[in-house]
Amino acid sequence: MQEKFQELETRLREIGDLNAIGSVLGWDQSTQMPPGGAPARARQMSTLRRIAHQKATDPVLGQLLEELRSYEESLPYDSDEAGLIRVARRNYERSTKVPADFVAHFSRHRAESFHTWTKARPANDFAAVKPYLEKTLDLRRQQANFFPGYEHIADPLIDFSDQGMTVATLRELFGALREQLVPMVQAITTTQPPADDVCLHQHFPPEQQRALGREVAARLGYDFQRGREDLAPHPFTTSFSIGDVRITTRVDPEHFGGCFFATMHESGHAMYQQGINPAYEGTPLARGTSSGVHESQSRLWENLVGRSRGFWNFFYPRMQETFSTQLGSVPLETFYRAINKVQPGLIRVYADEMTYNLHIIIRFDLELAMLEGRLAIADLPEAWRERYRSDLGIAPPDDCDGVMQDMHWYSGNIGGAFQGYTLGNILSAQFYEAAVAAHPEIPAQLSQGEFGLLFGWLVKNVYWHGRKFTPAELVKRVTGKPLHIDPYIRYLRAKYGELYAL
Ligand code: ZN
Repeated sequence: MQEKFQELETRLREIGDLNAIGSVLGWDQSTQMPPGGAPARARQMSTLRRIAHQKATDPVLGQLLEELRSYEESLPYDSDEAGLIRVARRNYERSTKVPADFVAHFSRHRAESFHTWTKARPANDFAAVKPYLEKTLDLRRQQANFFPGYEHIADPLIDFSDQGMTVATLRELFGALREQLVPMVQAITTTQPPADDVCLHQHFPPEQQRALGREVAARLGYDFQRGREDLAPHPFTTSFSIGDVRITTRVDPEHFGGCFFATMHESGHAMYQQGINPAYEGTPLARGTSSGVHESQSRLWENLVGRSRGFWNFFYPRMQETFSTQLGSVPLETFYRAINKVQPGLIRVYADEMTYNLHIIIRFDLELAMLEGRLAIADLPEAWRERYRSDLGIAPPDDCDGVMQDMHWYSGNIGGAFQGYTLGNILSAQFYEAAVAAHPEIPAQLSQGEFGLLFGWLVKNVYWHGRKFTPAELVKRVTGKPLHIDPYIRYLRAKYGELYAL
């Protein structure tokens, strides 16, 4: 059995290596590659994906997993070996249900659709992307139908990225959240003018902004010996191994915040990847357990730490030193209010903590309506405007900053792409509350610029396990409870209640 298990590990690492090579190509494409490299790169990636898919669906792998069934049952559930067999089986069963032709066809379609969107968005040309979206919708339905037995057609698509979550669970969760958020946003925005954030709209030299971001990332716990930071138009984190996890950021020379918080956000994702048990290297356990849990780590560092009063008590003097002409005479209180300004806006990625989830819930509802056949692609831009009007009180003047603002639907992901953001926000508070319950001195340490206790707790309880446990198992183990919105609501009420005297 030991021999068979080793053979399984060898095969899984080979697949892991091919996927990691694909990540190197993808990182290079988004950060360094000259435009002339695009056609060959697309071919190289598709060749690699095809080989990886062949290996991931090799019947010999399926046979091996069958032979290891009794061995798995003899092991404790939380052992690394049992975890690896479990996750490998789930991957194998999912990969083999989707025909290779479909994978190749969908992958080409994704690339074409994305390419069309990059040109159509600045031209405000929804008509150009409409046929691609229609085809995506059709292909996503086909994809869901390779996994029959679902209750809602989006369930299998959601399960890819947030295992165990269903439309029914999410509708209830998001409904309860929305019920709390809408009156809070209204109370803030109708009783007083928005916070003055003019101090953030000044010239901040890009190199200084990036240097400050890197400094903070390193202080939090991101290891630059096992990572690096580059520029990318849409910031992301990518992992080639536990020893090489890279972040990207973007910078607006006329605004402070975008670069800094993007760097903190991506560092949160990256620390998760760097903190995984090194024994999992190269195997399917060496990644986050779900998109929601991954996002909880980026949000925890970006918002619960990075936009907290305690953090800026410590860091603002350092900030004023770097940007003395811009911020030297701006009081901490003004700055703190500026970075926590609540104002309904059109763009998800610029949204504040309070309104952010409303953007997500709109997208989630619209994609379910599309998949259910209740909403035709032709009617999508108007449906989008209507929901923005009713939920946020504003409507986009064009599709560029409306329905075309996010790449998700245009890169082939209608269904399953958005719920992770809100699950992440909810979980960020649930994890943080558990950390503070275990170590009540964490908040005081944060305001002294000491992050080691929180970081160490997260490594031990969350990062280390990689994908060994399902999201539900991990949340229960770490916080003692299933996922729930109360800690997040408590966090928002406490923070914004104080800020806006609610
Ligand atoms: Zn993220």
